[in-house]
Amino acid sequence: MISLETNALAVASPVDVLPVSRKLVDGDVIKFCQRTPDGYEIESVIIPMGARDKTWRTLCVSSQIGCKRGCTFCQTAQMGLLRNLTTSEILGQVRAAREHFNANVRNVVFMGMGEPMDNLDNVIDAIRAMHDDHANQIPRRRITVSTVGRCDGIRRLASLGWRRLNLAVSLNAPNDEIRSQIMPINRVEPMALLREAIAAYPVRAGGHVLIEYVLIRGLNDAVDHARELADYLRGLRTCVNLIPYNPREDSPYETPEDGVITRFQLELMGAGQLCFRRNTKGTAAMAACGQLGNLALRRRIH
Ligand code: SF4
Repeated sequence: MISLETNALAVASPVDVLPVSRKLVDGDVIKFCQRTPDGYEIESVIIPMGARDKTWRTLCVSSQIGCKRGCTFCQTAQMGLLRNLTTSEILGQVRAAREHFNANVRNVVFMGMGEPMDNLDNVIDAIRAMHDDHANQIPRRRITVSTVGRCDGIRRLASLGWRRLNLAVSLNAPNDEIRSQIMPINRVEPMALLREAIAAYPVRAGGHVLIEYVLIRGLNDAVDHARELADYLRGLRTCVNLIPYNPREDSPYETPEDGVITRFQLELMGAGQLCFRRNTKGTAAMAACGQLGNLALRRRIH
C-alpha cells in the first residue's frame, strides 16, 4: 500500500528533474508526465502563448497528484487526492519543460492537477524559488495561483505582501445554488465569503483577479446567469475568463453551443465586466482545463 501522507518522499537535492514517462502532443500543446520514485505521475502542460512572438510558453504546473476537492466537472477530481507534491517536484516541472522540451517558459500557472491552497507551504516555497533564483527567472508577475476558492489560502497569499503575484479564482457559477451543486467547497465557504477574500487581495495597479468560469450547457450558461455574475463581481477588480467546458471521460455535462457562449460574453461585457473567452488548446491530448488526471493510476493504486 502506497502511503497517502503528504510529502511522503523526501527529495535528495533542491530540484531533481524526474524522468519524463509520457508525452502527448496536440498541435503546439504538449502534455508531459514525470514518473516519481513512488510510482505516481506528475502532469504538466506546455502551452504556446503570444499573438506575435510565438516562441514563448506558459507552463501549467501541478501542485498535487489528484485532488480532494471533488468539483464535478473536473477529471482530476475523479482520482481523489493521492499526495502533495514537494517543492522540488513543483520546480522540477519547470526544469523538465526547459531541459527536456527546450520550452521557453516565461509564465507559470498553478492550474494543473490539485488545489494549490491545499499544499500552500510547498507552493509558496516554489514561487519563492522561481522568483528569487536567477536560474529560474520567473518573476512573480508572471506566476498565477489558481484556487477553488479557499478563503484562508487567499488571505495567506495576501499577507505575504506579494502585490505582483497573480490570483485566479475558479468560480464557475453565478449563485450559491449552482456553485454548491458542482463545487463542494461552496457548501463550506459560500460566495459571499469568497467575495470578501477576493476584495481584500492586493492587486497591483492596472491588474485584476482572474475569475475562471467553465461554461456548462444548460447549467450555468444562461443570459440571466451572466447578469447575476456581473452583479456579484461589480465593484471588484476582476477579469472573467470564460472556458467552454471540456468533456472528460463519462462526463454528465456538455459544451454549450458557440452562440450561447457569445451571448453570455456579450451580456457580461454589456454590464461593464472585463471578460474574455479562452481558446481551448490541447483537448485532443487531454491537456485542456479540467482534463488532467490519470484515472488508470488511481485504479492501479486503490
Ligand atoms: S477543479 Fe481544481 S480544485 Fe476542483 S477538483 Fe479539479 S483540480 Fe481540484
